[in-house]
Amino acid sequence: MTARSRPPVPEQQLTDQWIGGRWQASTAEAAIEVVDPSTELRIATVPAGTAADADRAARAAAAAFDGWAATPVPVRAKALRRIVEGLTRRADRFAELITAEVGAPVRVARRTQVGLAIGMAAHSLDLLDGFAFERRIGNSLVVHEPAGVAACITPWNMPLLLTVQKVLPALAAGCTVVLKPSEITPLHAYLLTELIAEADLPPGVFNLVVGTGPEAGAALAGHPLVDTVSLTGSTRAGRDVAARGAATVKRVHLELGGKGASVVLDEESLEDAVRATVDQVCFNSGQSCLQWSRLLVPARLEDEALALAVEAIADYRVGDPREESTDLGPLVSAAAMARVTGHISRGLADGARLVAGGPGRPDGLDRGYFVRPTVFAGVSPDAALAQEEVFGPVLCVLPYQDEEDAVRIANGTKYGLHSSVWAGRDRRAERFARRLRTGLVDLNGGPFNPAAPFGGFKQSGLGRECGTAGLEAFLEVKSLQFPQDSGGPLGPRLKDTAPRTEERTSR
Ligand code: NAD
Repeated sequence: MTARSRPPVPEQQLTDQWIGGRWQASTAEAAIEVVDPSTELRIATVPAGTAADADRAARAAAAAFDGWAATPVPVRAKALRRIVEGLTRRADRFAELITAEVGAPVRVARRTQVGLAIGMAAHSLDLLDGFAFERRIGNSLVVHEPAGVAACITPWNMPLLLTVQKVLPALAAGCTVVLKPSEITPLHAYLLTELIAEADLPPGVFNLVVGTGPEAGAALAGHPLVDTVSLTGSTRAGRDVAARGAATVKRVHLELGGKGASVVLDEESLEDAVRATVDQVCFNSGQSCLQWSRLLVPARLEDEALALAVEAIADYRVGDPREESTDLGPLVSAAAMARVTGHISRGLADGARLVAGGPGRPDGLDRGYFVRPTVFAGVSPDAALAQEEVFGPVLCVLPYQDEEDAVRIANGTKYGLHSSVWAGRDRRAERFARRLRTGLVDLNGGPFNPAAPFGGFKQSGLGRECGTAGLEAFLEVKSLQFPQDSGGPLGPRLKDTAPRTEERTSR
């Protein structure tokens, strides 16, 4: 149970950023320390990129845009394939870095953080195969064109996956990209940049700026040469990015926080539902936007649900994220630990009843940002613990009276990202799922589908990633109207097909 005290990777002092097809020294005077959350030791320093760095990167991306946008789709696809191959080759190194900078248990790092990222990258390539960049509607030719310079701003919790989920569709669409990863976990982004450099994209098509949100991120969000900003992060950052983008009426895509509910409709599903919900709450040490941090059960089943939750959470081994047997690693930072502990203490002060875990580090761990997986009962649906995103391994079990009550509680937060429904019959689960105001609902344990649109209702976001929707997020739509009897290149075709409203053509 003791976290290691030596740094897992040799300390790196990184001073450059990738701009315009070469490594360039940042104009920053300050450096940001990257800390291994399991040891609290510094493992790297990176530049605290400035607004001037962001400006250089946006200019490089803008200069490269016309050429990349005009590059035929098969040529773009070839470049993307080289990136996917690079990801696959470096999978072990990515997993090692993500364990070091995020503190993700090595099994989670390998399978989900990296394995899913490679799958997602390959999926972006598949999308190009069948996508109709042009289609006819009556006398119009509707053309999907790259949206321009895309600023991709990413969080620390699933850093490679959530970066790939934006950057690859953006490049596939023909956008040029400035990536700004989280300042807390920038090391995977340096490795990603190395392999993108090896993929030989034209200079300026992909750029990396490392720095804080309020400086480098905000500079990109407000930059006049950036056409579209895609942020995954907190609702707080999303509001700021949207406000900055509004000055130049940018396209803003937001993947934000969540406060998901897992709703059990009958006794038959209780055991599976509780196990899956506890798994979700503890996944990635409790740091997932998809978390179902509220388990809603019929009031008559509350005691049974609590007993099952306590039993399930007791199986979780907290400790050194480099041990194969570890289920829960540390939280990402001292600030995250203080925030989660603060939520637990606030819950207690508000009268919630602790049934597992609680404040303080787990026994035997005196170093590292570890918290105890925690289950609460007696939480009012309106209390802060049931309303705010905790982003740690903390579950509230909430009883409900009838299905109307369950719908009201499940929909009763400002978020709307991911929920789940458990019922003996899929049809019953589906009827309930249709009433939930979240962008994703899993029915009876239905697995994640990377081809389906991903994103949130309400303050969980704007727009969708993944699948065709993820590619469209980086495309503008143009309609070309031809005279019905035009003798031009489309004239006869349009004349022939005039009565039909829509026909797709691939480019
Ligand atoms: P964060 O908002 O602190 O940071 C996310 C990114 O935004 C970082 O790169 C940060 O530097 C940047 N940023 C912060 N403030 C900014 C500003 N004012 N202008 C421009 N950029 C800014 O979030 P985090 O702590 O890194 O990540 C955790 C949050 O992300 C949680 O709320 C979680 O739910 C959310 N999240 C959402 C999804 C999703 O798909 N919906 C996925 C993962 C995480």
